Amino acid sequence: MKRSGLNTLCVHAAHSPDTAVGSIAEPIYLSTTFERDADGAYPRGYRYSREGTPNRTALESCVAALEEGAGAVAFASGLAANMAVLDLLGAGERLVAPLEAYYGSVKQFSEVSRQRGASLQLVDFRDPAAIKAAVAGRARLLWIETPTNPLLNITDLRLAVAIGHDAGALVVCDNTFATPVCQRPFSFGVDLVVHSATKYLGGHSDVLSGVVAVREDQPLLERLRAWQRMAGTPLAPFDSWLLRRSIATLGLRVRAQCHGALKVAEFLASHPAVERVFYPGLASHPGHALAAAQMHGGFGAVLSVCISGGADAALRTAGRTRLFTRATSLGGVESLIEHRASIEGPGSRTPQNLLRLSVGIEEPEDLVEDLAQALG
Ligand code: PLP
Repeated sequence: MKRSGLNTLCVHAAHSPDTAVGSIAEPIYLSTTFERDADGAYPRGYRYSREGTPNRTALESCVAALEEGAGAVAFASGLAANMAVLDLLGAGERLVAPLEAYYGSVKQFSEVSRQRGASLQLVDFRDPAAIKAAVAGRARLLWIETPTNPLLNITDLRLAVAIGHDAGALVVCDNTFATPVCQRPFSFGVDLVVHSATKYLGGHSDVLSGVVAVREDQPLLERLRAWQRMAGTPLAPFDSWLLRRSIATLGLRVRAQCHGALKVAEFLASHPAVERVFYPGLASHPGHALAAAQMHGGFGAVLSVCISGGADAALRTAGRTRLFTRATSLGGVESLIEHRASIEGPGSRTPQNLLRLSVGIEEPEDLVEDLAQALG
């Protein structure tokens, strides 16, 4: 059967009216424990909620359908999802990851590899030769983030997968920024997709969550499920329910947000107080052609800008916005603005005059007007 369209999957994947009373909204099963039959069996498939619970099953099946994978595993945060994957890294093995990526992930890579006696190589993923050199001699994991947080660098998925697989590595892609609306890493041969579902999948800044999806490797999927049970970090029923409900509007939200982000980026690129705009949807972005080839339906809704006049000018600009709220995170329906280097703290590689903008679903003209008055 032909694959349903994205919005159809967002509404219907792993969702149907409840059989007990016909409720259209999925019931929330808060129970931590489930009844056995008289013979001791569990014919309804659930025993104890750490192992599995109906709202989490629905969410995991839905994300697997959207990413076109064999299955997915949901966790209590994006970093918990990363940890499940990093557990695959053994002593003496190597993790190759981008130098420019979400700072929390990079910190986690460095800490986990040190604790496990594994090695970490951080390289510029815009340079295929650098990736090739880093994986040579059998790296275990090749970790891609595209577009990256906060510089919006683009990695060539097809090329990186070929390099990773040639070296015998499992290839992971953090698809948080693009979402399955704009990018399907599995169609390029990526083995595992990770999400901070806190961002676009949740979409309302009210659920901390993470998901790992597996393309086709069943033993790998089972190993991740086992880690979820063993570490005791699954997503709770109410959070799973919130996330599944939010995904119903994922396509509508993300497409509107991408449209708004492009308008905002075009405005900022022409403003004299702006030194540089980082947004892959702009033809001037060095990764634009690649992003246009491997993304679809939009270029994501996060962009960064360097403000002329240094950190003070950037902080003053953020201090004057009225619609853009000053807060960290991204992917929600409301637009956010953030002075990135100060949240990343000492050692941050992010330029001091950089502001990261997460574009919400407000009217793009209102967002542009807000930035115009803030830039003065
Ligand atoms: N991956 C990316 C690209 C992120 O931006 C973030 C958080 O900002 C994470 C992972 C971590 O996710 P969480 O905050 O849900 O633990």
